[in-house]
Amino acid sequence: MDNNIYQRIDKITQRLLDGGEMSGAEGRWMIALDHDYLPWLMAGADRLRKTFRGSEVEVCAIANVRSGNCSEDCSFCGQSGHHKTAAPKYGYIKNESLVKQAQQAREWGASDFGVVSKGWGVRSDKERTQLKEYFNELKDHSDIGRCASLGALDRESADMLKNMGMENYHHNLESAESFFDKVCTTHTYQENIDTIRHAQDAGLRVCAGGILGMGESLDQRIELAETLRRLNVKSVPLNFLNPIEGTPMASLKPMQPQEILQAICTFRYMLPKAEIRIAGGRHFLGDMQSMIFMAGASGVMIGNYLTTQGRQVQDDLKMLADLKLTIRGDTQQRRAVTVQ
Ligand code: SF4
Repeated sequence: MDNNIYQRIDKITQRLLDGGEMSGAEGRWMIALDHDYLPWLMAGADRLRKTFRGSEVEVCAIANVRSGNCSEDCSFCGQSGHHKTAAPKYGYIKNESLVKQAQQAREWGASDFGVVSKGWGVRSDKERTQLKEYFNELKDHSDIGRCASLGALDRESADMLKNMGMENYHHNLESAESFFDKVCTTHTYQENIDTIRHAQDAGLRVCAGGILGMGESLDQRIELAETLRRLNVKSVPLNFLNPIEGTPMASLKPMQPQEILQAICTFRYMLPKAEIRIAGGRHFLGDMQSMIFMAGASGVMIGNYLTTQGRQVQDDLKMLADLKLTIRGDTQQRRAVTVQ
């Protein structure tokens, strides 16, 4: 073990606590460190999380409102019409079903609920009408925060969705720009960046992150973090590739637990004030799932993901209770009902 490494981590941590930044070069050094130093990194990341995000965590959930046969060819995605997978295919779910899922998520303690649809933007009157109905129903029947993830947006669509009552827009960059040609060929990285900018300009809170473990290098993970920082994204979901049978990424090996934790730590250092939410692929951490918060995460997605199952919600709520982490926007009463 090298004392200089411990000292360098401490120096960077102190600089961030004093309001400074970690450089991209330091990020590349940190993410490539031997896992022997992970406990020290986690101690620093935990300090940054507590200082900048407090002891509350954000919990959100999503509903997949329309699935399968997507026009885009994202290599990781079971819903792409370009791959042969077992992902379900269905048109818009009923309004009542969406409301029921949102109310259930609120019962669990989630503060935000995402309306997620396959496809690349809101293009037809049918889609606009359906989304308007969804947001009206959600406003009428739940106080949960309203998010959506609908693909590319231009400024007009961003304004329209905001006027419908959408509060947050989720749009992942997926990976580094230098790796994006391995991820998708039917749309460009610039379209992703433009979408984030349009949503921000419309006054929406933007949630944008990516998927790690798609074959990108460690440097490219830092490149993604640098782009998110440049775009001033304040809410960053991190997913870890869950290779889906039938997709071009099916044969990739899932990331190892220590590699996942080190990536979370490094994102906390690169984006010390951001909400860092852990979403798909969390189960690859196995028994180390609760360590995401010590590694700097400040939020978690509960329930099921788009085409894959999440962990039992009761287990997640118990984990938060054991860690003495309070869910932001939750009440003790609501959690008392759900945590047995
Ligand atoms: S990630 Fe979204 S845009 Fe890409 S194929 Fe899947 S559903 Fe379509």
